[in-house]
Amino acid sequence: MRGKIVKAIAGFYYVDAVESGIYKCRAKGIFRKEGLKPLVGDIAEMEVTHEGDKEGNVTEILPRKNELARPAVANVDQVLILMAITHPSPNYVLLDRFLISAEMRGVPCTICINKTDVSTEEQIEEIRAVYADCGHPLYFLSVKEEKGIETLRALLKDKTTVLAGPSGVGKSSLTNLMAGEDRMEIGEISKKLARGKNTTRHTELHEIGPNTYLCDTPGFSAFDTEEIEKEDLRSYYREFQPYEGTCRFQGCVHVGEPGCAVKDALAEGAFSRIRYDNYVYLFEELKEAERRRYL
Ligand code: GDP
Ligand code: ZN
Repeated sequence: MRGKIVKAIAGFYYVDAVESGIYKCRAKGIFRKEGLKPLVGDIAEMEVTHEGDKEGNVTEILPRKNELARPAVANVDQVLILMAITHPSPNYVLLDRFLISAEMRGVPCTICINKTDVSTEEQIEEIRAVYADCGHPLYFLSVKEEKGIETLRALLKDKTTVLAGPSGVGKSSLTNLMAGEDRMEIGEISKKLARGKNTTRHTELHEIGPNTYLCDTPGFSAFDTEEIEKEDLRSYYREFQPYEGTCRFQGCVHVGEPGCAVKDALAEGAFSRIRYDNYVYLFEELKEAERRRYL
């Protein structure tokens, strides 16, 4: 029988075999020998050892399309970055880090901005202007008022999606709404943080429809500075693409070289200054990390 691993706790893998239900499985010794560890999101072959108790063994893992390290999930179709317009207001640098991380791993990424019910039209337009040309789709929604939810449902359908975003933006609320029942604890950020110190949350895929899974596990990582060369960072800023190769200096990284076409375009308002400032901020961070590495 074949199924998808939706949860892994204490050496047990929970395999969702759809019509037949979820089986609590052990991974057989062959995995240890091969140095392969099943991951949440894996498609597994399993044998049932006890139908009544829904128990079995994972016997084989099918080849993975991709895998994320944090959270540890395989076969991710997309990352959905959730931010709020306000409470908390968007952290643009963090949003860019998430975008770059997903793109580095070859995983498509969509930006969703929540809490339109408590925002002004100006705030919405501001965010739209910043990310209009970033190359990733951008949606606005209100989980509370269930606005924009149908579009989102269509976006998630038949896919395995990892939710990323800071605390308090509505990830748990969205997961519960999509699941049609309470799976995640919603609440005051301070309370959740206090509790978070004592509990380790396991990685879990929530089935929110047929063949449709949502992973709301904190820790979708911003990239590690070792993973990316500062000279490559510019390739993640789609806004710069039309000007690449037209700067005075070959290999211009657009952070202050004379005759920089990207900076000229910025001065003319061709793209958002916030995005450019984020770029410079991250560039400097990578530069500093590189300096420390060779110290
Ligand atoms: P998480 O930390 O990202 O999982 O966020 P939660 O789902 O726990 O939500 C944090 C807070 O924001 C809670 O008080 C929610 O009730 C509230 N919240 C979630 N979605 C919305 C929304 O669309 N509008 C408003 N006004 N509040 C929301
Ligand atoms: Zn330049």
